[in-house]
Amino acid sequence: MLVAGNWKMHGSQAMVRGVIPVLAAELRSVELDVVVCPPFPYLSMASECARGSAVAVGAQDLHPAASGAHTGEVSGQMLRDVGCEWVIIGHSERRADNGETDAIVVCKVNAALEAGLSPIVCVGETREEREGGRTFEVVAAQSAAVLECAGPGRLRSLVLAYEPVWAIGTGLTASPEQAQDVHLRLRRQVEAFASGAGSALRVLYGGSVKAANAAALFAMPDIDGGLIGGASLDTGEFAAICRAAEGRSWNK
Ligand code: PEP
Repeated sequence: MLVAGNWKMHGSQAMVRGVIPVLAAELRSVELDVVVCPPFPYLSMASECARGSAVAVGAQDLHPAASGAHTGEVSGQMLRDVGCEWVIIGHSERRADNGETDAIVVCKVNAALEAGLSPIVCVGETREEREGGRTFEVVAAQSAAVLECAGPGRLRSLVLAYEPVWAIGTGLTASPEQAQDVHLRLRRQVEAFASGAGSALRVLYGGSVKAANAAALFAMPDIDGGLIGGASLDTGEFAAICRAAEGRSWNK
């Protein structure tokens, strides 16, 4: 199981210094991967605070190029340099706010893998797409592009996060059954792409996960953890979500 906290554009030096050591102590003996993704300016400090603990650090984005004339951008190698092991790619807020297409997402996935980062790639349908019965068509197309890019040989480093857009930051959560349905189809898609990969690839659920609903979601056989937005800003809440995931095998 893997639980990742996406701080989005929240936080401060004080929050990093306050939260990460507490989280590391709280989760000292949990058997799962825990990742914290603060904004770029705090990644270096987050890595120092997390050093030697079970908490890993991830970024929320990267640029597709390794270096060059890209003012304001950050490369995968830079993220590695400041201690990141993970990077979120294709979050629906970036797809909406920054016009990130599947083609851009694919370039970023390749850049992350080249830099030795593990990408957490977000896929998910809008409310209109769900109501139009197009959920899996949309999610499958987003995922197919990513699978092609990674290729069978690099799938082990990849994590997919199913994040229905209508559930992100809205307080609305997909029911465990709705999420499980998409996760199972995604797993079958991965298996069809590369035999044996379906059971090895982790598929996280994201969208208004809280301590109160985490256990029911994580009990689903094809949900391998969570990508947590708002609730990751509350240390107690995030630790409780991590504990709800603890001990559940993801390699089914
Ligand atoms: C997210 O930002 O990836 C997310 C799932 O947000 P929230 O948990 O706030 O819905």
